Amino acid sequence: MRPNRPIYLDHHATTPLDPRVLAAMRPWWEENFANPHSVEHALGRAAEEAVEEARGHVAELIGADAREIVFTSGATEANNIAIKGAARFAGTDGPRRIITLATEHKCVLESVRDLAPEGFEPVILPVRPDGLLDLDVLRAALETPTLLVSVMAVNNETGVVQDLAAIGAVVKEAGALFHTDAAQAAGRIPLDVEEIRADLLSLSGHKMYGPKGVGALYVRRRPRVRLAPLFSGGGQERGLRSGTLPAPLLVGLGEAARIAAAEGMLDSGRITGQRQRLLDGLMAAIPGLRINGTMESRVAGNLNLTFPGVEAQALLAALPDVCLSTGSACSSAEITPSYVLGAMGIPDSEARATLRIGLGRFTSPAEMDRAAALIGAAWQRLSSTLIRSSTPDAAE
Ligand SMILES: *Cc1c(COP(=O)(O)O)cnc(C)c1O
Repeated sequence: MRPNRPIYLDHHATTPLDPRVLAAMRPWWEENFANPHSVEHALGRAAEEAVEEARGHVAELIGADAREIVFTSGATEANNIAIKGAARFAGTDGPRRIITLATEHKCVLESVRDLAPEGFEPVILPVRPDGLLDLDVLRAALETPTLLVSVMAVNNETGVVQDLAAIGAVVKEAGALFHTDAAQAAGRIPLDVEEIRADLLSLSGHKMYGPKGVGALYVRRRPRVRLAPLFSGGGQERGLRSGTLPAPLLVGLGEAARIAAAEGMLDSGRITGQRQRLLDGLMAAIPGLRINGTMESRVAGNLNLTFPGVEAQALLAALPDVCLSTGSACSSAEITPSYVLGAMGIPDSEARATLRIGLGRFTSPAEMDRAAALIGAAWQRLSSTLIRSSTPDAAE
């Protein structure tokens, strides 16, 4: 990488492609372009084989069977199929409640809300100030018969890791379906669909060093979870997701999953060390710096930090050499402060002074030292201007 390239600290928005993933995909762009459903000829069968190998790698990453993996265009689509598909298949004769968290990704919250006009009942649970779901709140919500509970594994702004095994046990005891949006979790924390008792699990290629525009939905076979498809078409993916499978993207997703299964924990240990290095540097430079969300149950690369006395937007503008964000990529163009932080009881004024930091597989210790120095200096510059301009004598 070029020395003056910006430091990339936005791994929750997307991750770079691992060079090994690109290498694995290459022949499926350049040499074999066949449709993996064209099983009447040799090229088609070779593409189909590659797709099925990829399916196996994705299944293995989450402790599933390959037959339980449905390929999609990403986690947004997987979440839509899981939530709307489960609700529409079940219909409104049985339980109509669909429970989720206030801190979920927009695509989960909107999928749940979209079902209200169809007769379902959205229930949006609060979280504790540390970002975790209170199990007693969940138990109380489940006293009324419920169709589906959707709880994300890792939050995309705060990196908070929910206790999925405990949540899954409570949900299954209540007889509801359990879905988890694991877009930020897959490849970053160990995930086992049996241990967490998930019926449905969504993941995304571009959050785990794979290609953009591809993802997967795990759909439990035993006991079988039934979904109504969103797309009409050729009936691919066992009728759940019609459309020609993008073999090159799926080979990339499979390779990303294979690497994550083999190296995810190594990544995690290294990234935790680098995050500490960055945090130490920032703490030393910025008195009153505050961390949002629990540090005890948090994904390795994440920091969500409130910088006292400055606007996060101003801080970003002062940091052209660091790629950072104020919140989720989908809503960071909005002027309204993060609803995720709001749900944790953080006032708007503080949310506006907050940055999300995401480290990744290729983040280096030298980058951490440079980022800490740049961010620290930018904060000091901005906060001293603020103090000067708020002192009447120094105003002119
Ligand atoms: C990125 C993300 C999504 C959306 O994934 P796409 O593959 O980009 O559609 C959904 N949920 C969470 C938690 C995410 O971080």
